[in-house]
Amino acid sequence: MSKLTPEDQKKQELYRDARFTNQYDQIWQSVGKCVFCDLKEKYVIFEENGIVLTISLFAYIDGHCMIMPRRHVRSPKELTDLEWDTVRKFSYIAKKLIKDVHSVKGMQLIYKDGVEAQSTVEHHLHFHCVPFDAPDLMEWNYRKLQYTPLENTNQYKQARKKIITSGAKFDKKYHQSHSLPIYCDVIILSSNREILFQERAESHKLSPDFLTPLGGKVESFTRTLQEELAREINEEAGITISPKDCTLLSSRVDTVKHTNVSKQLKATYPTTTVFLRNTYLLKNFDKNTKLTPGDDAENFVWIPINEIASHERISESTKEIIELIQDEQ
Ligand SMILES: [Zn+2]
Repeated sequence: MSKLTPEDQKKQELYRDARFTNQYDQIWQSVGKCVFCDLKEKYVIFEENGIVLTISLFAYIDGHCMIMPRRHVRSPKELTDLEWDTVRKFSYIAKKLIKDVHSVKGMQLIYKDGVEAQSTVEHHLHFHCVPFDAPDLMEWNYRKLQYTPLENTNQYKQARKKIITSGAKFDKKYHQSHSLPIYCDVIILSSNREILFQERAESHKLSPDFLTPLGGKVESFTRTLQEELAREINEEAGITISPKDCTLLSSRVDTVKHTNVSKQLKATYPTTTVFLRNTYLLKNFDKNTKLTPGDDAENFVWIPINEIASHERISESTKEIIELIQDEQ
C-alpha cells in the first residue's frame, strides 16, 4: 500500500471517528448524490456478477463491510437470480473473512427496508455485514474505531486467499443448480464441410483456451431460443442468420471452466459454469460471407469437419456434438 499524504491520512481518520464526533450527519448531508453509484474503487474488496463487497466508510465496528449491486436498485425484489445468488455467496465470504481477519465468529447481516428504516437518503440497496462480538452492538452503540476505511479495506484484500477459497467452497457446496442459465450455440457448416469457430476475446477466454462455436447466453425469454441465437450471432459476427434454418442438434447440461480476474485483489482464480447447452445446426452457409468480430470474439476460423476429432483446441463436449452431424450423413 502506498503511503498517504498527511491530508489524505487526516481524511481517513475523520471517517474512522465520524460516528463518534457527530460529524457523520454533516459529512453525509454535504454529499448530495448517490455515493453507492459513485463507489470509490479503492474501497472495493471483491466483485462478481455486478455485486460488490466493499468497506463501510462510516463503520459501526472495525471490519464492517457491505454487499451491494453496482446497479441503483432499491430492493432485493429487483435483483436478478444471479445477483441474488451472488449476494448469498458474498455474505458467506464476508462471514469467513471477518472471522479470518478479526477473529470474530458472529456477523449481523443487516438490510434496512423502506424509507423509515433507512438512516440516509440513498435508497441504493445495500446489506451491512457487521462483525458481532458482543450484545452492545444490538443497541447501535457506535464504537471508537482503530482502523480507517482504507486500512479496513486493505486488511480484507490481504486475505485474498480466504476470499477465493471460501468463494470456491460456496460454489461447490451451496450453489443451487435449479436455475441453470441457458446457452445456445450453432454449428455453422459450409457447403465444403468446414465448421466455423471463434477465437474468443481475451476477457471471454475459457480454460483451457478452446475455440468455440458461435453463440451465447440467452438473455431474453420473450423470443424463441433460435431468435435469441440469431441475435447473439449478429452481435458476435455481424451476420444475419434465419432462426428457422437452425435445427436443434443437441441439448445437454454442460460445464466450462474460465479464469476470473479480480482487479481488486490482483489475483486470478478458476470458476466453473454449469449451463443448459442447446446446440443448433446451420447447413450450407456461404463461406465467403464477411464476418465482423464483436466484443466476445477476436477472430474466426474455418475447420474441416474431418479434422475436428483430433483438434487440440476443441473441447470433448463440442467434439461429441459434432459427431452427431457425421452420424447424420
Ligand atoms: Zn445508486
